[in-house]
Amino acid sequence: MKKYFLSITLVFSILFVSAQKASEAPNVFIITIDGYRWQEVFRGADLSLMSDQKFVKDTNLIKEQFWSDDELERKKMLMPFFWNVIAKRGLLLGNRDFGNKVAVSNFYKISYPGYNEILTGFADKKFIANLPLRNYNSNVLDYLNKSETYAGKVAAFSSWNVIPYILDEKHNNFTVNGGYEALEEDQDSLNVLINAVQSKVNDKSHTRKDLLTYASAKNYIELNHPKVLFLGLGETDDFAHKKQYDQYLYKAKQVDQIISELWYYVQTDPFYKNNTTFIITTDHGRGSKSSNWSTHGFWVKGSGETWMAMIGNNIINNGEMKNKDIAYLKQIASTISLLADENFEAEDHTVARPLAVVKDQIKNN
Ligand SMILES: [Zn+2]
Repeated sequence: MKKYFLSITLVFSILFVSAQKASEAPNVFIITIDGYRWQEVFRGADLSLMSDQKFVKDTNLIKEQFWSDDELERKKMLMPFFWNVIAKRGLLLGNRDFGNKVAVSNFYKISYPGYNEILTGFADKKFIANLPLRNYNSNVLDYLNKSETYAGKVAAFSSWNVIPYILDEKHNNFTVNGGYEALEEDQDSLNVLINAVQSKVNDKSHTRKDLLTYASAKNYIELNHPKVLFLGLGETDDFAHKKQYDQYLYKAKQVDQIISELWYYVQTDPFYKNNTTFIITTDHGRGSKSSNWSTHGFWVKGSGETWMAMIGNNIINNGEMKNKDIAYLKQIASTISLLADENFEAEDHTVARPLAVVKDQIKNN
């Protein structure tokens, strides 16, 4: 009997230790802002675009809210969390005005290849259009979900309804919710409410309203505490394509607010506090002129120019990087796994190495 008792105690303590190990493992959130330009991140709202009645319905009102002659002030008007918090506590990469660059490696410079690059660590030469087609490249979220530490602790929520295909939801085993896909209702009444609202949206496009995506993700986070979360927001790209610069700015400001609220939540929640990193980026750039800012693709100069922001554990607080250097979207996948203390490898493709700025920091710790 005593022997049994001892072995039961042993089993329980092993279970306890491994559960504790899993809960203490680092958390990583990946947040994407579809087609959001580095120009707005680092320069604030653009004066010529916001003065153009082709793109802005009330140019005076928009300028009152987004324009200042002072560049820092201007950037803070558009993205207060980026410039009040990330610029002091984290890292901002991709200000080409200083020669600090972030770029896509894929040839096409549209969304599917961009998200593929971010999530699989590989710039596929093969063209996949922005359509609900299966992605055969294995991704870092699935890799982490198959690890001992992160199993069942990975989730993805996106505004764009193609992300579940890029993550190959059908053949993977973690929670993915994209577009106006209904949420599981057995868990919480708020999901019932979100589903009811979603079903009533009458101008449904391929991109769910970002606030609904955020509400869905936030509820999931509060209930399940995922350790790895992908949050893909998309309305910035939609309004840019519609040439509505005013709405593009409002959506960017909204995303900044969403990230700010989410960061406050994780930093004040005992599960996440001081053990969570945010990596924020975009899937492609766009044109830089009034004739092409609204569009992107291999035929539009500037479409390969992107940016990244990072804050949290193992992220040095160097703020805005001004050294002449280049980083690529394809380095994000292995950076995510490095931050999670894992080593993402894929049998079907080569995975680009992690970002040096993160790797050096982890080495020094
Ligand atoms: Zn687009």
